[in-house]
Amino acid sequence: MRFGSVKFFKVLIKTVLAIAFFVPLVLCVIFGVVLYNTNSELERVRGENERLTFAAEILTGERIPDVESFYGLYSSSGHSDEELIEYINSKHGGSLPAISPTDTPSVETGVTGETGEAAQTGETGQAGNPADNSETTAEPLNTAETAAAPTAPETTETAAGPAPESAYAALYPDMTVTPPEEYVREEGTVYLTFDDGPSDNTYSILAYLKQYNVKATFFVVPRRTEYCYETLRAIAAGGHTIGVHSATHEYDKIYASVEAYLDDFHEAWEMIYEATGIRAELFRFPGGSKNDFNEATRDAIAEEMTRRGFRFFDWNVDSNDAGGANWTQMYNSIPKDISGNYRSVVLMHDSATTKNTVWVLEDILKLLIAEGYKLDSIHSDTQPVQFIGPFA
Ligand SMILES: [Zn+2]
Repeated sequence: MRFGSVKFFKVLIKTVLAIAFFVPLVLCVIFGVVLYNTNSELERVRGENERLTFAAEILTGERIPDVESFYGLYSSSGHSDEELIEYINSKHGGSLPAISPTDTPSVETGVTGETGEAAQTGETGQAGNPADNSETTAEPLNTAETAAAPTAPETTETAAGPAPESAYAALYPDMTVTPPEEYVREEGTVYLTFDDGPSDNTYSILAYLKQYNVKATFFVVPRRTEYCYETLRAIAAGGHTIGVHSATHEYDKIYASVEAYLDDFHEAWEMIYEATGIRAELFRFPGGSKNDFNEATRDAIAEEMTRRGFRFFDWNVDSNDAGGANWTQMYNSIPKDISGNYRSVVLMHDSATTKNTVWVLEDILKLLIAEGYKLDSIHSDTQPVQFIGPFA
């Protein structure tokens, strides 16, 4: 091929065209890859920046985080719940309970369970000195501490100075209980809870529980009737835990103020005592601790109830029976929701309108027992499961 020949120009043109096509293509690909990497790196840095800014604002006090975002931030840094408790203790003078390892002998031998039941009969509950309880009011709570507070037992460290008097101390001064010194958090345990009873279904529920030797927890809405009192006694006789739910269950009324809540709680608490002799220590807020009706009063109510030694339980599995779930839906969703949890508090209802709960109960019990879960009632020293906080 001679320089200047026709063949030479043909090859030249082909070469130029090839270069003109491939070079931009290769450049485009390289550029695209670089741009993509830069962008995701930028995203990562931006996310990290947001997180750090958020953290810095919390540290400098510019921002009071809500507990959920604080906890989210904390766990995103790879720390465990135990470390978080240690951190909060170091900040606030060690008022949080230690989490017992689930394999301590006390748990396996059931000693703690027995203590819990003894406490609920009122024998140990009455030993509590109201003066000791008022000392646990301690300092005003910010949002981060509110979650911890309901679980905080009294300790000698927190009782250092004279306690501020509660504005509600004069109301029902005898309505106090003594929280345990240490809480237990058992892995793989399922706590079935039945709200709103007694009802026409209570005895059926009790019969299934007895048949499978399962203990459960009833957050009750008692009435001053002989049937109700008898049923409460049957629940207690079955070895189940009775907690307070409400006397009226009327959201507007009970969440109007701390006083209104105490009135309602006292009414229910007293009926349980009249019927069974039990000074109930555990309770469940109607609608859960965080609902659309208690935004203005929830922190003050929780603080006052904690001062009195009561512990509240929300749930982390909702059977949705009150929402109308049918047999199939509950049979599928309850075990599935339980399977992802360290431990589970299952919300169910013992009310006239939740017949499906009775129908599905036996099958749920069989299935959970077959899968190796430990089904238990909530004991006096069970670490609360609450919507807000690291313990769910
Ligand atoms: Zn309810």
